[in-house]
Amino acid sequence: LKKIVPILAILLALTIVGGAAFWLHQSTGRPPTDRPNVLLISIDTLRADHVHSYGYPIETTPRLDQLAAEGARFTRALSNSPWTLPAHVTMLTGQEVGVHNVRYSKNALADSALTITEVMKEQGYATFGVGSAPYLKARYGYAQGFDSYDDDLAQVSYKASHESVTAGKAVNKTLRAIKQRRGENWFGFLHIWDVHYDYIPPAPYDKKFADPDYDGNFRMLKWEKNKKFRVGMDPDDFAFVISQYDGEIAWVDSQLGRLFDRLKEMGLYENTAIIVTADHGEEFLDHGQKGHGHSLFDELVRVPMIIKAPNVPVGRVVDCPAGLVDLFMTIAGWSKAPHVAYKGPGKDLTAMIAGDACNTDRPLFAETKMSNIDKLNAYKRGYEMMVEIDGYKYHNRVTKPLRELLFNIHEDPLEQKSLLDQEPKRREDMQEAMRRHSQINDKMRRSKRMSNRTKLDKKTRHQLKELGYIQ
Ligand SMILES: [Zn+2]
Repeated sequence: LKKIVPILAILLALTIVGGAAFWLHQSTGRPPTDRPNVLLISIDTLRADHVHSYGYPIETTPRLDQLAAEGARFTRALSNSPWTLPAHVTMLTGQEVGVHNVRYSKNALADSALTITEVMKEQGYATFGVGSAPYLKARYGYAQGFDSYDDDLAQVSYKASHESVTAGKAVNKTLRAIKQRRGENWFGFLHIWDVHYDYIPPAPYDKKFADPDYDGNFRMLKWEKNKKFRVGMDPDDFAFVISQYDGEIAWVDSQLGRLFDRLKEMGLYENTAIIVTADHGEEFLDHGQKGHGHSLFDELVRVPMIIKAPNVPVGRVVDCPAGLVDLFMTIAGWSKAPHVAYKGPGKDLTAMIAGDACNTDRPLFAETKMSNIDKLNAYKRGYEMMVEIDGYKYHNRVTKPLRELLFNIHEDPLEQKSLLDQEPKRREDMQEAMRRHSQINDKMRRSKRMSNRTKLDKKTRHQLKELGYIQ
């Protein structure tokens, strides 16, 4: 009896506390307040190494750097895809591209797929999304689980989508959605498009990083068709282009700063978990090409990953391999979902930030069906995969012309000197990891059936054609 009495007392206490919590929840109609709001921000086309806190010498990103100082920054975060559509679908589903299979412009995420938005909705969160580009239209299946999914900014002509400035409008839409959900726990998804070409930052960001003595007249419009941006070009023109890309980044950073300031004024900043990342990077002749989609080098797959959240240690720099595939479980963790019907490779990044669960051997994968070895001169698309394990990165283009590369990413971060001949055993291990990965993906893809075909309307087809995504 002596042993049973304290147990009974504890049970009684738990019942009272639990009942009170239940009653509170019922009586206020609000979810428990120990859960943060969650804001997932994807900055299209932002390569990690142009973010100042990631080592870029120019101060492009004071507000993102401040966010990183208030939270955690993952030094090695990879996208699963070097272009917009598959990467964002991975972001919201936590699935590899080979599993969700939304890897062509004609594919969309099926309603049967589970998205993080649906989990949050199920957990009592109010949900909203803002998409600003053709591949973020609701028609691709993003809207599922969102109370409102605003893709107005994506519903414009090609010319408007590339020549107009939308980050400020996207931030305003986000602020409006947040105000409408005051007093509720909310999950918001904000997609920012301005860093994507054409690089035409609004004043004063057009001049912010440009050499005042530059007297060239390099054309920044219709970037996809610009054949003058190539190896051997005038270095002053090259520097000017980079200054315009950096100007776009600084402009977007200022708009996110405005968003964060408004959250503070509304008293919401502290209890809002904020993730800032990108869907992919951008190439500026790093391997002789431009734009994105065409390779799996770091300039295209390495993305920033900054997380600020209640109870996340401040100023932490995390070297654990991480990816877009991890966002699903990270966000689900904040919602305190007791169990999520998730089967996939994603991990909860907050455990890595806390110092647990860092597995340096963890493989990270990416792939593209738009692989192009020299798209400036010979437009030939193919299928390429990449795996990174323990600081080594292996690329394998499996369609002709074949290409295999192996790099030590710490010693050779610019991926210039392939170690394929020096490391035959490692090459074999990488190939084996890739084979296993493909087998698992194929099996999961067949059982999950997460994608279906979408019929492109004339306008979207035109937009994507102009962007160079489809022929
Ligand atoms: Zn993109």
